[in-house]
Amino acid sequence: MSMPDLRETLRLLRGLQDLDRELYGVRDELKRLPAERVRRREKLGGDKDRLTELERRLFEVQSRVKEIEDLTTSQRQRVRKLESQASESRGDTALLVAFQHEIRTLRRDISEAEEEGLGLVEQAERITVERDEHRETLGKLEEEFAEYAANIEKELAEAEARRAELDIERSTRMGQALTPEMGTMYEKLLEAREGEALAELESRVCQGCFVSVPNNIYVRLARCTELVPCPSCGRILYLAAID
Ligand SMILES: [Zn+2]
Repeated sequence: MSMPDLRETLRLLRGLQDLDRELYGVRDELKRLPAERVRRREKLGGDKDRLTELERRLFEVQSRVKEIEDLTTSQRQRVRKLESQASESRGDTALLVAFQHEIRTLRRDISEAEEEGLGLVEQAERITVERDEHRETLGKLEEEFAEYAANIEKELAEAEARRAELDIERSTRMGQALTPEMGTMYEKLLEAREGEALAELESRVCQGCFVSVPNNIYVRLARCTELVPCPSCGRILYLAAID
């Protein structure tokens, strides 16, 4: 291979490398963006579950309050009935004592139930405040997510379009520039080194793996008669000065 040919090959490879670097970046975006969207949707789902849970608790407490109200209403009716029966039991002391005993028991039950009811009403108020705050926060989060999701759609569409452009550009260049063997070598290297098949040699240090190379590597590279891989990472080396 004559010197101009190799320089041309290296130039083409570097052009291809620039393109592939962008292509790898775009592919990463195409993976990262949907994954991020899933993560954020799950987080929002958790916030919605929290609202459902607060509403469920509020419903439970309010139902219990209603039960207590119904119970104490019927107990009060019973007390009134007993009081009227007691007032009609003139003379029958045993009956009067029995009525009074039942009335006292009922009044105590009513008083206890009312106390429990008050506690529950306070609890319901606290849950209502928390529920309302959470609902407001959730509303904002949902708005944010809708905006975010629309942006992601746009970014994904752009990345998809850019990938299509790069894919076309790439196959055109591959077809023109490289022998099949060199193309295969480049592809393997690209995959193995996650998108960086070439590395500049700067001050005798490979800029791909940052390992110093022996002097003879530099000499071979400067001679510019062959492709020289880095002995450490295998990337095709180039000298910035050559181009
Ligand atoms: Zn290296």
